[in-house]
Amino acid sequence: MQTAFQKCAEVAVPKATSIAMEYYHLDNLLWIFSLVLSFVIPLLFLTTKFSPYLERITKKIGKYWFISLGLYLVLFILINQLVLLPFDFYASYTVDHHYGTSNQTLAKWFKDYGITTLLLMGGAVLFIWIFYLLLQKSPKRWWFYSSLAAIGITFFITFISPLWIDPLFNKIGPMKNKALEKELLALAEKAGVHNKTIYEIEKSEDTKKSNAYVTGLFGSERIVIWDTAISSDEKKGLEFTMGHELGHYVLNHNWWFMLYFSIITFAVFYLTYRSSTSILKKFHRKLGFNHLYNIASFPLFLILINFFTLLASPIFNDISREMERDADRFGLDLTKDNQAAAELFANFAIKDLNNPNPGPVYTFWRASHPSLKERIEFCNTYCPWKK
Ligand SMILES: [Zn+2]
Repeated sequence: MQTAFQKCAEVAVPKATSIAMEYYHLDNLLWIFSLVLSFVIPLLFLTTKFSPYLERITKKIGKYWFISLGLYLVLFILINQLVLLPFDFYASYTVDHHYGTSNQTLAKWFKDYGITTLLLMGGAVLFIWIFYLLLQKSPKRWWFYSSLAAIGITFFITFISPLWIDPLFNKIGPMKNKALEKELLALAEKAGVHNKTIYEIEKSEDTKKSNAYVTGLFGSERIVIWDTAISSDEKKGLEFTMGHELGHYVLNHNWWFMLYFSIITFAVFYLTYRSSTSILKKFHRKLGFNHLYNIASFPLFLILINFFTLLASPIFNDISREMERDADRFGLDLTKDNQAAAELFANFAIKDLNNPNPGPVYTFWRASHPSLKERIEFCNTYCPWKK
């Protein structure tokens, strides 16, 4: 007899362990605190008039516009990173070591922090002059051209990330376990993806958690699996992970994401244009600069862009969760191994200290993936091929 609800797998949603709940609450607190810092630090640059002071100094030293602009940005980022250092260290080193999810040495943490700081400086010097030139040349339409520039830059960074940026942090290369690679490639063939290299990233240097991702654009796109996921002996779970990532790849999620990102970028820049103009009108005496094209305005733009991006983040999260659901469905359609997929998710709750059923506030503001509870329940009930 056919039952109304087909059972596809029978995996119970695990209850969050007390340690996982502690980790979850602390992580939320740290998220709020880092958000507050991302507004408070640039606000201090403005209210103390340190920003126009820094502009005057860098103008004196730099002489040429481009050089003084670059100097300001380098100093701004340096100060920002130094102020943030104790917090970042606690949030990403101390906490993860305390909860036993980290493999990172102190030296590696500082090395990564240094590389991040240098990348931020390099990126800022390389690109931000474009926006300040637009502010000067087109005071009324800079927001439109800046959106185009920001989208272009994001495409460029997405393209170079897997080639030049990701390898600065962790070693990346083709999969080492050739027998396993062959099985995963067979799965890719089945999904219609031919002649692809599967990349392995040595994340075990940093963490005990496991993951995989699709990255790149314009021919640099690739599937990358963390070595921590490969070394775990749940082969069936790894096959589902590969199926899920193939879903992102085949369904062109990177391109869709860029499309949504582009639309929201126009909105963020337009709102930044409107609000920055009226803030300058009202407060230019207090701010200590007269034009938005003064580099002293940089902290103001940072605050506004942060704020509007934060407002847009629930939309991004919603889009991302929808894509993750599609990728899960794709993975199940491909592997038809609901049990393995559901067990993989149940394992995340224990191994990676995930809360399987986070609250609505977390989901709204932070969750880029559906909850483990939702994903396990989906695996337990979705198997149309059995009908
Ligand atoms: Zn995914």
